[in-house]
Amino acid sequence: MIAMPSLTTKTTCPYCGVGCGVLATVQPDGSVQIQGDPEHPANYGRLCSKGSALGDTVGLEGRLLHPEMGGRQVGWDEALDTIATRFQQTIVEHGPDSVAFYVSGQLLTEDYYVANKLMKGFIGSGNIDTNSRLCMSSSVAGHKRAFGEDIVPGCYEDLELADLLVLVGSNTAWCHPVLYRRIAKAKEDRPGMKIVVIDPRRTAACELADLHLPLKPGTDVALFNGLMHYLRRHDGLDFAFLEQHVSGFAETLAAAANSSPSIPAVALACGLEEKDVAKFFQMFHGTPKTVTAWSQGVNQSSSGTDKVNAIINVHLATGRVGKPGMGPFSLTGQPNAMGGREVGGLANQLAAHMDFGNAGHQKIVSEFWNAPNLATRPGLKAVDLFQTIGEGRIKAVWIMATNPVVSLPDANAVRRALASCEFVVVSDCEDATDLASYAHVRLPALAWGEKDGTVTNSERCISRQRPFLPVPGEAKPDWWMVCEVGKRMGYADAFDYKNAAAIFREHAGLSAYHNEGQRLFDIGALAEMDTDTYDELNPTQWPLVKDGKHGTSRLFSDGGFRHHDGKARMIALSPKPPKESVDEDYPFVLNTGRIRDQWHTMTRTGRSPRLNRHIPEPYAEIHPDDAKRQGLEPNTLVSLESRWGKALARVKISADQQLGSVFMPMHWSSQNAQQALVNALVNPAVDTISGEPESKHTPVRLQTYHPAWHGFLISRHPLEVEGMEWRVVVRGENHWVYELAGVTTPDNWREWAASIIASAGVGREGEPEWLEYADSSQNRYRCAQLVEGRLAACLFVNRNHELPARDWLTQLFAEPRLDAKARMSLLAGRPSTAGDDQGRTVCACFGVGYNTIARAIRQQACTTTAQIGDRLKAGSNCGSCIPEIKAMLNEAKLEEIRS
Ligand code: SF4
Repeated sequence: MIAMPSLTTKTTCPYCGVGCGVLATVQPDGSVQIQGDPEHPANYGRLCSKGSALGDTVGLEGRLLHPEMGGRQVGWDEALDTIATRFQQTIVEHGPDSVAFYVSGQLLTEDYYVANKLMKGFIGSGNIDTNSRLCMSSSVAGHKRAFGEDIVPGCYEDLELADLLVLVGSNTAWCHPVLYRRIAKAKEDRPGMKIVVIDPRRTAACELADLHLPLKPGTDVALFNGLMHYLRRHDGLDFAFLEQHVSGFAETLAAAANSSPSIPAVALACGLEEKDVAKFFQMFHGTPKTVTAWSQGVNQSSSGTDKVNAIINVHLATGRVGKPGMGPFSLTGQPNAMGGREVGGLANQLAAHMDFGNAGHQKIVSEFWNAPNLATRPGLKAVDLFQTIGEGRIKAVWIMATNPVVSLPDANAVRRALASCEFVVVSDCEDATDLASYAHVRLPALAWGEKDGTVTNSERCISRQRPFLPVPGEAKPDWWMVCEVGKRMGYADAFDYKNAAAIFREHAGLSAYHNEGQRLFDIGALAEMDTDTYDELNPTQWPLVKDGKHGTSRLFSDGGFRHHDGKARMIALSPKPPKESVDEDYPFVLNTGRIRDQWHTMTRTGRSPRLNRHIPEPYAEIHPDDAKRQGLEPNTLVSLESRWGKALARVKISADQQLGSVFMPMHWSSQNAQQALVNALVNPAVDTISGEPESKHTPVRLQTYHPAWHGFLISRHPLEVEGMEWRVVVRGENHWVYELAGVTTPDNWREWAASIIASAGVGREGEPEWLEYADSSQNRYRCAQLVEGRLAACLFVNRNHELPARDWLTQLFAEPRLDAKARMSLLAGRPSTAGDDQGRTVCACFGVGYNTIARAIRQQACTTTAQIGDRLKAGSNCGSCIPEIKAMLNEAKLEEIRS
């Protein structure tokens, strides 16, 4: 137990599904110190770069703090009355299915619970869906098909105990970093542990891989069917387990034999080397303690549910489920995607793991809620929901804690749909978002640090998010807003909660109501806890059955599946190609995903200077041979076009990318980048079972993009820089960087820069002084504005993308005065000594740059990550950057061999 100052609050990280415990300590100056909670079972004190930087994101700048209607600040009563009236009028005129809620895995379980209760229980429509649809609904559907209930059978410890860990479609190193470090530690302690990474890309997760299978996008079912057939032919199936606990295996084995009859056939279908396929099959066959973990690379597919079942099939066939170090394991993307699943936040679920298709479940929920108007059929899933808004059949929508105009596929169609919608309510803690302009009513929500409730992580562990900051302005909890609207719609008794604890108690009560062991999601043991006990609640895994066994880490170890016959089902599968194929017009496959240091649409992580330094600009990563054929040079701009839209991105060339594929991150919105909205490109094809979009496979074409000029502007103050073809805003410690490119060239650069800078008030502190350098023959221009000797802004322009390093230049903004040497080197665009240019940040925790690490490798003969950690501290805190440092060390070794 570590000693904690009195102001330390135990809470939970609001980012990924690992669900790490956080100790937040408000300092006397109002800043917040963040540490990992050593007692939390998800992270035991560790945090990744995003979690460590949470303290940078809690300020009030950019917060929505008052209700607004039509851009006008209004009181809560006016806003809530308007919402209740408009929703009621719409329902009266057009029926309950003419309204919808679109919610989020960022909501707490208590918020989610009341939103679902209002829509499904009292409005009487199934039209509530969540952005979790976009990341893990295929896993939900796969679990239900296989197990009869949406259950993750194992726990994080299994990933450490496994002798073989198979990571499928999961860049765990960047997307679930703390869990990845736990895996790395397990492998370090037990070097015999093997790791196989199955992913079209060579990602940072391959740092630990004994084998990487860069399969062709969308061929996972062929691979796992092949594994199934191989296991059968090599006596690798557990027939005793199959006979006793599984149905459907004969058909499944036949389908596997049919689709994937041999290793050569699998290798051909998946675009893999036969020897690698054979090696993987042998490893799986020979290693009883195997965990297969997956995330969005499996889920985000038009056959995502089949892919999930293909993985679960082989675990059922080998009896490797729910035992220490064995099992299929879905890694959820969001902090409370699991909580959303528990309360029925998906349009095709009732609450508490109950189903629309089950009359008994309908009766239980209706009776428990005293809701005679309970919806009797599923509502619309996310993509269909917004298409129906566009068709004018949904006329009122309330969007909570998410940004669908950035995150949904065919994002421009979503924008058009919302622009045409009669009534849009947005509740959010952020003021400036791409969604804000579509809202008729905006409601200020609490942010992390102010919220009070619970979240559930990927291993079924319920943790508290506790407030440690005062409520700002008129912001309110999401649950409160929903309840107030519910009361105003005439359901006062059903939405009369004193606090989040009261909602949680009801949620727990419903999970146990007439359950009698039918549903594993049972947290009835928590249904009667008082508010103090709720406040003190320690992280706890469900099931938590009243008077029963608590906190069960593993389920199904000896069967007990939730289909009526008590058996699991294997699903006979045939591989299906992605919905949209590449062709001559659109010859590349666009794959989208996350980067290490940003979260979703960057509304929070984008506030942290240290996180922005890792990858400051949206990029498109492409294989060197494709780049050559397309005439693409590193760091130039590329135009990407699909049948749905266009985007621009910075070119990154890497052999980690498969030929014919291009990867783009999903984080940038119009708030921080011009024309880099990747979801404008993404096709809206979905998995017909889960409704999850195929965000990993959109045919696109690529073209070099040649603006008239490239440049960047760095300013001590935020600026309005409009009218560019390329504009990316990167927030720094004491400055903002604007990466720019344009097709029209201003007549006078200095006047152009001065007008932009003046509009932001820069220079008002004193008489500005200008430094200037121009080389018109090269179209090269540089200027800097100083105020009382201190750098206020600088502009660098070139006809091509070759421009000075920004990292070094931004350091000049920390100087109180620029001396003559600094002024000269500023205009020269390079530091006076090479050591001053650290290069782009690799280690976000200690701000250690690429060049610094490269110099340590070259000049100080560092050959291990431990040595780099000792000399520079890089990689010695959260460890998120270790894969990149290892890659640099490997590259240096290769260079040495080559020379
Ligand atoms: Fe947060 Fe990182 Fe832990 Fe995920 S791994 S919960 S982002 S600290």
